[in-house]
Amino acid sequence: MNLNNPITYIKGISVHRASLLYAELGIKTCNDLLHFFPFRYIDKTQFYAIKELQPNSSEVQVVGKITRIKSIAQARGSRLVATFQDTSGTMELVWFKGQKWIKDSLKINEPYVVYGKLNHYNGNFSIPHPELELVSDYKRKLQTKMQPVYPSTEKLTNSGVSNKLVRGYIQDLLQQVFDGVQESLSPEIIDDFQLISKRDALLNVHFPKNQEQLAKAEFRLKFEELFFIQLQLARKKLINKAKIKGPVFENVGAVFNQFYKEKLPFNLTNAQKRVLKEIRKDVASRAHMNRLLQGDVGSGKTIVALLAMLLAIDNGYQATIIAPTEILAKQHYIAVSELLEGMNINVDILTGSVKIKKRREIHANLESGQLHILVGTHALLEDKVKFHNLGIAVIDEQHRFGVAQRSKLWAKGAQNADGGAVVPPHILVMTATPIPRTLAMSVYGDLDISVIDELPPGRKEVKTVHRYDSNRLSVFKFMRDEIEKGRQIYLVYPLIQESAAMDYKDLMDGYEGVSREFPAPKYQISIVHGQMKPADKEFEMQRFVKGETQIMVATTVIEVGVNVPNASVMIIESAERFGLSQLHQLRGRVGRGADQSYCIFITSYKLSAEAKTRLKTMVETTDGFKIAEVDLKLRGPGNIMGTQQSGVLNLKIADVVKDGATLVKARNAAIGLLQADSNLSKPENIGILKTFTAIYKSTGIWANIS
Ligand code: ADP
Ligand code: MG
Repeated sequence: MNLNNPITYIKGISVHRASLLYAELGIKTCNDLLHFFPFRYIDKTQFYAIKELQPNSSEVQVVGKITRIKSIAQARGSRLVATFQDTSGTMELVWFKGQKWIKDSLKINEPYVVYGKLNHYNGNFSIPHPELELVSDYKRKLQTKMQPVYPSTEKLTNSGVSNKLVRGYIQDLLQQVFDGVQESLSPEIIDDFQLISKRDALLNVHFPKNQEQLAKAEFRLKFEELFFIQLQLARKKLINKAKIKGPVFENVGAVFNQFYKEKLPFNLTNAQKRVLKEIRKDVASRAHMNRLLQGDVGSGKTIVALLAMLLAIDNGYQATIIAPTEILAKQHYIAVSELLEGMNINVDILTGSVKIKKRREIHANLESGQLHILVGTHALLEDKVKFHNLGIAVIDEQHRFGVAQRSKLWAKGAQNADGGAVVPPHILVMTATPIPRTLAMSVYGDLDISVIDELPPGRKEVKTVHRYDSNRLSVFKFMRDEIEKGRQIYLVYPLIQESAAMDYKDLMDGYEGVSREFPAPKYQISIVHGQMKPADKEFEMQRFVKGETQIMVATTVIEVGVNVPNASVMIIESAERFGLSQLHQLRGRVGRGADQSYCIFITSYKLSAEAKTRLKTMVETTDGFKIAEVDLKLRGPGNIMGTQQSGVLNLKIADVVKDGATLVKARNAAIGLLQADSNLSKPENIGILKTFTAIYKSTGIWANIS
């Protein structure tokens, strides 16, 4: 039987039933059915002593004797209760239906094997409607030990497609195809990672002999599933490296050296140095850099980006840095201009609010090559904006940047000398929203990833506490004390789009409350929110940046990037309404200066379990990667940027959250394979090639690239 045959080839599957299985579960071919995996097993391999039972056990199997049977009256009708006993203890078996017949058939003091779902009530265990079999009968039969339970839908169940039926189809299919199942991995990988064969894995995932066999089968299949995703990503990366040429920055020249020797205001951390080396290795080769730079808030990504841009300038190229908001772009512009003061480098800024006249000037300087670094917002993606020869584009805070925008940047590269083809600029994407390593491998597997995993020296960890509404007076007192010391304070309110009107009211109420508590002229308060005009926002921001106001009442507009080192307190109202990564970003706004900083979450007493976990996590750690791991566990991978395209959401058996260790192995296997046989042309890798092309329905990716 050919595995590509439709499932109607299987005995008992009519055209009607096949279309139902396809509509409900996406099962079309025999191969689909073979890879339709159980989500749990009824494990009858284990026997429990009654005293070993745990309140959270689900289905259990026990051997013992019935010592007593009685009928107990209850609100409606009665229930039949049998006292069941082994040498270790006592429990109950309970029936609500068919009581008469059962009562007559039960045998007292004869050993039974009992199986069923365990209930726990008032310290007593019971099994309602158990499966019962006399031990004497049990011993005579050949037992199916672990029974697979397959995912189903209401529609399927109602149409009579029971678990038993599906199990039967798969059993039939396996019997027919078992001998013909092709190995999909190479002998070397199977050996290196101690995998069982594909055939045994399929057999044991559907009908495991025991838990150990099941674990081996699951490992093999998860490994395989992740392996082919990683192989695709690794191969794409290899093709990009081989085919796409980037601008070459081979010289470390006067600009870079002068800056490094005379201007750099501090020593780079080791992590910064390492990342810079990684970048330099890319840009000095003919390859095209497509790199994701992850670094926690405050880890110093900007300076690394600037140094990379100076390399571009040293080699006759221009550079650009794009920020998601005007405020941020301005901040970058000021920072870069200050750092480069006294050097012969032209920097300018292009945002939506730049006036026509100035805009024309920028366009002209950009096209002539006079302008070296352009800082800006999305405004610089417009087609009108043309570079003389753009060598590198830095994208800050990437989570607001889409794929389409990245490709616009791509097209802004310099024309090749031999005409026509565009040399795309190197791309450095910076993000302060850490993505757990294993997920990054799947989502950004075709990018290179650099991580700054070290904060500049002398940073004090932000002290974080959780307070309730009723503690607000003491929070106000704390604020007054901090202001007394000359510090500034952020006070943040949630703003969630759908209920903007209500949130806006909360913000204004809060603002009024704080104004009463901190009256002018002694205290000055800035307020910034999404419904203000950009110019007003900017004005209020600037007052705070300059230290003219002590308190900044704001919605999440300050979430990303703003840098006010003197601000040392972050207070977040209704903190339970923020997601973990938002809370982490907000907290990152403080702790930027030399003073001890604080973060205070204020909530009501009523908190969901998930909100409690979020706040507890924030109080316990400041490590962005740990926070990201928790976030991933709470929300699942579906909410993380880029996962939609990556295929990790369609995994059949593996789980990027739980199977991180397997993922790392699969990735190493894929990379190792491509190092040894980049085009999969060796005969021992034929199974991999065949399986890959069957999954991705294309062979194009394997054409010779070397
Ligand atoms: P982020 O990674 O969040 O973008 P920034 O690049 O804004 O962080 O850097 C945060 C602050 O740390 C800036 O004020 C910057 O000047 C400072 N900084 C960066 N690197 C170092 C370093 N190696 N030593 C001391 N201060 C540093
Ligand atoms: Mg930054």
